[in-house]
Amino acid sequence: MDLHFVDDVVRPTTRDELPSPLPGDALLAGGTSVMAEPGRDLRRLVDLTTLDWPDLTVADDGLEIAATCTIDRLVHADLPENWHARTLFRWCADSLVASYKIWHTATVGGNVCLALPAGSMTSLCSVLDASLLVWHPDGTDSVVSVADVVVGNQRNSLAPGDLLRSIHVPTAALTAPVAARRVSYAEYGRAGAVVLGRATDGGVVISVSGGTVRPFAIPVPSREPDEVVAACAAVVPEAAWFTDAHGTAEWRRAVVPHLVREVVTELGSAA
Ligand SMILES: Cc1cc2nc3c(=O)[nH]c(=O)nc-3n(C[C@H](O)[C@H](O)[C@H](O)COP(=O)(O)OP(=O)(O)OC[C@H]3O[C@@H](n4cnc5c(N)ncnc54)[C@H](O)[C@@H]3O)c2cc1C
Repeated sequence: MDLHFVDDVVRPTTRDELPSPLPGDALLAGGTSVMAEPGRDLRRLVDLTTLDWPDLTVADDGLEIAATCTIDRLVHADLPENWHARTLFRWCADSLVASYKIWHTATVGGNVCLALPAGSMTSLCSVLDASLLVWHPDGTDSVVSVADVVVGNQRNSLAPGDLLRSIHVPTAALTAPVAARRVSYAEYGRAGAVVLGRATDGGVVISVSGGTVRPFAIPVPSREPDEVVAACAAVVPEAAWFTDAHGTAEWRRAVVPHLVREVVTELGSAA
């Protein structure tokens, strides 16, 4: 797309070359959203891909995913066999409306920062207890959770010039048994609601997303389905369920407990 209203494109290769934020800036990762729906005020693009971060770094304490790692790279990465959570990478990618063609360009960080309820990389980070490293324009850093960043439907908490650098997923989450369920009006494509689960010592973490304006990660010290369903119902507020073309709030609120029950049952039999 020819963005004739863009006056400048900055291509930093180091953190020092990142420009001070200006009104009309957009950080550009894969550009599948920036190019498709450029804001009317857009004047300058700051291309993050020229920073050339390694996509994926496997370490003793887990996996570091660069914000600019494409969804395709994550899905097809060669990762340790005992990282059971790998199965969720593909599963979450399949929950996007975006097909595998978009996965080649769309980035994990871009998906999180866009903060769409259908952002399944957000769902992934939520259930896997991911830590997000954010670079601030004054040179300081923060480490936050995905729930700190994705705060509403297409609303993130990043200030102008804040940049998501990477996502760290701890080994304990990667090696734990996981389970996933989604529900959608159509057999393929964008999910109406997504429930992910991860086994913990004697309990589970359930992530509810897709049908809520932001993800909810709910740790429950039990694998008793009724208790987990009740815990999830107590955490997700009424106002968080929303209606769009992919489902009504009522339907989503009604169907998610069934998905939670299935996820907990599967995790119980895996333990
Ligand atoms: C056909 C199609 C289907 C799609 N389906 C879905 C879907 O089902 N669910 C969904 O969530 N999205 C969907 N998208 C939107 C988009 O493709 C994805 O969210 C994608 O992952 C965004 O990544 P990107 O790298 O292209 O982001 P970009 O378009 O480059 O950026 C997206 C936003 O995030 C900001 N940003 C990007 N990287 C960073 C960073 N590191 N730090 C701070 N800010 C950053 C940008 O400034 C911009 O505001 C779809 C898009 C298309 C074209």
